Amino acid sequence: SASLAHSDYLIFDDQLGETIARQNTLHIAMRKALEAQHFQLYFQPQLSLLKNNIIGAEVLLRWQLDGQWIQPAELIPLAERSGFILQLGDWILAQACIKAQHLVKLGYTELVTAVNISPKQFTAPNFVDKVVAALSDSGLPAHNLELEITEGVLFNNDYGTLDSLQKLRKMGVKLAIDDFGTGYSSLSYLKDFPIDKIKIDQSFVRNMHTDPADQSIVRTIVNLGKNLGITLIAEGVENQSQLDSLKSIGCDEIQGYWYSKPLEEDFFVDFLHQKQPL
Ligand code: C2E
Ligand code: CA
Ligand code: CA
Ligand code: CA
Repeated sequence: SASLAHSDYLIFDDQLGETIARQNTLHIAMRKALEAQHFQLYFQPQLSLLKNNIIGAEVLLRWQLDGQWIQPAELIPLAERSGFILQLGDWILAQACIKAQHLVKLGYTELVTAVNISPKQFTAPNFVDKVVAALSDSGLPAHNLELEITEGVLFNNDYGTLDSLQKLRKMGVKLAIDDFGTGYSSLSYLKDFPIDKIKIDQSFVRNMHTDPADQSIVRTIVNLGKNLGITLIAEGVENQSQLDSLKSIGCDEIQGYWYSKPLEEDFFVDFLHQKQPL
């Protein structure tokens, strides 16, 4: 009936209004949070299956607003759309390098700290300069820094992207492809771009111990990486069965709750000391 349609419309309108209100709230709050240094960086350990030791950690953004955790999956896309990701990303990169240098100073000289770089951040014209500045301000050696970028960035197969990647590679910064397999179907960029590591997306890892299709996708990615001399890491490894499958396939490294969830800096240092006493 007309009245039902009318109320449906009102409900929809209300929800839309709420979504927009929440987005506005978050936009304002995230700017304040950056100024007030309320953002935190967590570290999720990465394990080498070959050497059976920690090779590094991925830095993940954490934010609590009025006692509520705001998920990066909500925050990052908002920040991307508004352009705030440029300021936020600068802060993340600078802070991550400072914290990574702290770990190097403790004696973990080979540990690699991986930082997520959003597409807008990577394609900004001065991105490489920002990396140079973050390294020199912190004193972090370039080989202790890894940048995680997504396939979409490489799909814009333009000269600027290749140039940036080559400059970073020349400096000694490592480059990883995040969420591998979820982006674009073209694989030709793997031979054109200087890539050190492929991160196999957790959507393929999740059911690989029960689903033969997922298992063969992971196997294919691992073989592809091996043939190209690129290191493979599987993301989202949660249980022993997934781990066993990955070992039998010959995957180099893993990251996921099975080994450790993302940890606050102090807890990550404790974890390191426990697993790898100096
Ligand atoms: P991502 O880069 O693919 O990060 C991995 C996500 O998987 C993280 O979620 C991590 O907490 C989660 N994870 C790790 N191990 C497991 C596991 O065993 N099982 C499951 N189910 N999940 C696992 P998080 O921290 O919520 O981040 C979500 C996304 O937000 C990230 O996906 C990344 O795209 C973005 N993000 C997070 N931090 C940053 C940042 O500092 N900068 C940028 N640009 N993006 C970030
Ligand atoms: Ca990542
Ligand atoms: Ca990922
Ligand atoms: Ca992801």
